[in-house]
Amino acid sequence: MARYRDAKCRLCRREGMKLFLKGARCFTDKCAIERRNYPPGQHGLNRGKLTAFGVQLREKQKAKRIYGVLESQFRKYFQWAEAERGVTGENLLRLLELRLDNVVHRLGFAASRREGRQMVAHGHFQVNGRKVSIPSFLVKVGDAVQLRPTSKLQARIDDNVNAGRGQVPQWLDLDTNEKKGVVRSLPLRDDIQIPVAEQLIVELYSK
Ligand code: SF4
Repeated sequence: MARYRDAKCRLCRREGMKLFLKGARCFTDKCAIERRNYPPGQHGLNRGKLTAFGVQLREKQKAKRIYGVLESQFRKYFQWAEAERGVTGENLLRLLELRLDNVVHRLGFAASRREGRQMVAHGHFQVNGRKVSIPSFLVKVGDAVQLRPTSKLQARIDDNVNAGRGQVPQWLDLDTNEKKGVVRSLPLRDDIQIPVAEQLIVELYSK
């Protein structure tokens, strides 16, 4: 299971915006975007104007970085999105949104997708009563995602839920007492509050 292991704040600085990759720290003045909002590297301050290709590339990189997905996996999601009926860009974001690590984060159990990914990979969650430790697992309508009764994360999950930095989207139902979320419907584009112009990603991959 390959994943990006380098500094996370560099990614936000490269995109020139907060991607909220680090949970609580992103809401403090320690955030690198608050302190150095320019691209990292020796020539960070002297980058020229973006070409049309550059703009498309940045949108794709932003989406990948927000969801913590590497290039080959992202391309696979794009192929699935293309094969589905409907608008390819929206299909792509929906697939990313249905990843189990994202759902755990959206339910408020994890402060960031990265934390969600770690919790899932360490086997703390079950889907429909069965343990699932694959962060890229795609949930379906009606699936119940729940913290396993034997998990030692009960207190941490309570802290994250109480911190409640984001609202639970309407396509999910949350039961805080049971630490359980149910996928009520598929997310619509309006439910996916991420600052990405998905059409540009489609244009980039369609060349
Ligand atoms: Fe991005 Fe969070 Fe780092 Fe700020 S603290 S730069 S939002 S990862």
